[in-house]
Amino acid sequence: MTDAPTAPPDPGPDPGPDPVRDPWREPMRLALDEAVRARETDDVPVGALVLGPDGELLGRGHNAREAWGDPTAHAELLAIRAAAARRGEWRLEGCTLVVTLEPCTMCAGASVLARLDRVVYGAVDPKAGAAGSLWDVVRDRRLNHRPEVIHGVRAEECGALLKSFFRGAS
Ligand code: ZN
Repeated sequence: MTDAPTAPPDPGPDPGPDPVRDPWREPMRLALDEAVRARETDDVPVGALVLGPDGELLGRGHNAREAWGDPTAHAELLAIRAAAARRGEWRLEGCTLVVTLEPCTMCAGASVLARLDRVVYGAVDPKAGAAGSLWDVVRDRRLNHRPEVIHGVRAEECGALLKSFFRGAS
C-alpha cells in the first residue's frame, strides 16, 4: 500500500463519512466544552449532555467530584439529573446521553435506570469503562432495558483532553 508520492503529510486518520457517528459530532463538541469547565476545579475533564428526542438540550454536567467532595458527582449523573428535573420525570425515554468518556458502572447503571434510548461516548476507558470495555452494563442482555451504544465520537479530542490533564497533574 503506497500513497501517491505527492501526498501531503498525514493529517491524521480520515475515516470519511460516518453516518453512525457524524450526527453526534456537534453534540460531542458541546460535551467537550463542558468537560473543559471541570478543570477550573481541578476535576478530571469529563463532560456530558442529555438531549431530548428532537435534539433539545435537556441537561448538561461536568465532573465535579473535587468541587463538591462528592464521589457520585460524575458528569453523566449531573446531566441525567438535570434532564429529569427539566422534564419533570425520571423516565428519559427517547433521550440520548452524550459523554466524552466511556461511562463507569455507576453512570452506565444510571443510563439504564433512566431508560435512555442511547449512550454516545468519545474516548474508551479501558480501566473503568462499563459500556463495552471492562463491563457492558448498558447492553447486558439480562436487563430489560438496553440503550443503544455509539462509541468513538471525537474520541481523539476527548482522549487528548484527559491525557493533557493527567500529564499536567503528574
Ligand atoms: Zn461515572
